[in-house]
Amino acid sequence: MIDFFKLATPGVQGLQPYQPGKPLEELEREYGITNAIKLASNENPIGPSPRALEMVQASLKNLARYPDGNCCLLKTALAKKHGVDMNTLTLGNGSNDVLDLIARTFVTPAHSIIFSEYAFAIYPLVTQAISAKAIVIPATNWGHDLTAMQAAIRDDTRLIFIANPNNPTGTYVDKIRLKTFLDAVPEQVLVVLDEAYYEYAIAENPDYPDSLDWLTDYSNLITTRTFSKAYGLAGLRVGYSISHPDIAHLLNRLRQPFNVNNLAILAATAALDDNEHLEKSIALNRQGMQQLTQAFEAMKLDFIPSLGNFVSVNVGDGAKVYELLLRQGVITRPIGGYNMPQHLRVTIGTAAENERFIKALGEVLNHI
Ligand SMILES: *Cc1c(COP(=O)(O)O)cnc(C)c1O
Repeated sequence: MIDFFKLATPGVQGLQPYQPGKPLEELEREYGITNAIKLASNENPIGPSPRALEMVQASLKNLARYPDGNCCLLKTALAKKHGVDMNTLTLGNGSNDVLDLIARTFVTPAHSIIFSEYAFAIYPLVTQAISAKAIVIPATNWGHDLTAMQAAIRDDTRLIFIANPNNPTGTYVDKIRLKTFLDAVPEQVLVVLDEAYYEYAIAENPDYPDSLDWLTDYSNLITTRTFSKAYGLAGLRVGYSISHPDIAHLLNRLRQPFNVNNLAILAATAALDDNEHLEKSIALNRQGMQQLTQAFEAMKLDFIPSLGNFVSVNVGDGAKVYELLLRQGVITRPIGGYNMPQHLRVTIGTAAENERFIKALGEVLNHI
């Protein structure tokens, strides 16, 4: 038989597939347990707004229809919410779809892409997929070293990915450092600010920049956001970018015409309108973050302060503790793949879920 591997593009031959969090059903099946909890994929523990759920119910009768390819309804709502023009928006099947679109629109194998050590796994993945050169900048205190990232820009650099805050470290770049960086980056180098945890971060820290304030000053800036995290709609897959209209126009050329589905369009539009649910999600996250970090302190475990809905904690041997927690029905995320083998990333859950995790972690660490 033909070796199909040899037929694949060089980029695809070198790909390491993304490792998702373990699904609850899989754990329960494998270990024969029930009532497992999942704190592994930074999902909202209370789910989406009830209004979003109602819209999904109501839209079921339209499933035979293609979605509106322009996503007019959602774009109108986003434009109003953010005070931007509709022509600055590009919607995606999750923001990962948009990150991929940006790379494929602007970057060829002759170009390089800069990102940080410990940065979100999708950046190396999309870079590899298009056979572009990855320039990985060592982190400082687990966070992005913007000075070094700027110094690394070469003539062939087209794109810089910055996760703010970053997953899995939770670290962020503040207003002053980001502004200094943007001032120094040449305008032909696109800067993608991945703000997947924006809603949590902006509520917690006055130093956290809202990059939308700078879009008109820096035409090479692209902000990406998502409905997967604070809005609790990870399963429907919807995210977006806000950029200069010329950039959005190009991204929309390459975008698959129906990349955001009917249910996602309606649910996201309804979710945007429910500020009360968003506030509730943010407050729950704040309390849960305190609950976890206080427990870590009491257990004398080092953790990385985080502006997201997750926190990475040094447990000595992440893979082993992950395995032992699984047996207690608690799914967390080992991050050895990020070269952080001592850490576990834990998503903030409900108070009861956090309590169960803390208890299980205490027992596991006592037996190692
Ligand atoms: C979760 C996450 C995303 C969003 O993924 P979606 O495709 O929108 O679900 C993007 N960037 C980072 C850093 C994330 O952690």
